[in-house]
Amino acid sequence: MRKAIGIDIGGTYIKAGITDENGNILTKQQFPTMAEKGSRDIVLQQIETAIEFAMGELDEPPAGIGIGTPGVVDNEGVVFEAPNLPDWHNLPLKKIFSEKYNLPVVVENDVNSITWGEFLYGAGKGYNTIICITLGTGVGGGIVKDGKLIRGSRYSAVEIGHIPIEYKGPQCKCGNYGCVERFVGRDYIVERAVKAIKEGKKTFIYELAEGMTENITPKLISVAYKKGDRVATDIWIDVGVCLGALFSGLVNLLNPELIVIGGGISQNVEVMFETIEKTIKERAMRILAENVKVVQSSLGTDAGIISAGALLFQK
Ligand SMILES: [Zn+2]
Repeated sequence: MRKAIGIDIGGTYIKAGITDENGNILTKQQFPTMAEKGSRDIVLQQIETAIEFAMGELDEPPAGIGIGTPGVVDNEGVVFEAPNLPDWHNLPLKKIFSEKYNLPVVVENDVNSITWGEFLYGAGKGYNTIICITLGTGVGGGIVKDGKLIRGSRYSAVEIGHIPIEYKGPQCKCGNYGCVERFVGRDYIVERAVKAIKEGKKTFIYELAEGMTENITPKLISVAYKKGDRVATDIWIDVGVCLGALFSGLVNLLNPELIVIGGGISQNVEVMFETIEKTIKERAMRILAENVKVVQSSLGTDAGIISAGALLFQK
């Protein structure tokens, strides 16, 4: 079976592994990114170390090297811009490593890469059109439509977190008003809990945070929800309605079969998933909404490596 090298570049670690055509991970290792050194060459050297590790574990040449990186990446594997990596402007990543190793190299934005991985091997396996969203401090996304990743004219399509859902809503850090990230980004989920506490509502979240609102995280709100806490449950329902409203629009636009939700924040918060599905069914056009499923991402903690390797393989 053919194998590929998967490289997942993050702000803190570069993860490397060998994957096979079925999306299995055969070996893996992580290396510090060393972005804090402020040197592009040091980070490139770390990527090379990660690739060397994987090469050393192979007994035959791989199908190629797949790289998932933050930032905007074009079809030629040039990273236009990656805000958290030093001096990553117009960096020809693909050229650098394909010349060095004389192997096919595919470079893709990390969220697009994960969308492709989920489509080939994860929750999206067997489907044709899927929307992926990752919930965290920011809200990212990717779309596979009719078996192809959507990139757009400047390779920046699917900034899903910055779709406005309330045109007179609060201003988002991107400058627009009422973006979905302004309601379901990590800090804004936490904000709901702080507000409830300030209003004097009784909630287990406050005890879990040991009486300090700055300790509140989405994870604590999930723990409180699991214990049946009303305030926590209402927060996740509200997040679900917000995402459901967003997806009702996207369902009308793209007619997907599946919506995949990733990022650690919403792990096992069933009420949020149920609310999203219910809201889509209430709000989207009936014929389009009927068969849409909303599920959690399924590639787990190695998603970045598996998905980077997946860039070398088609369905
Ligand atoms: Zn925005």
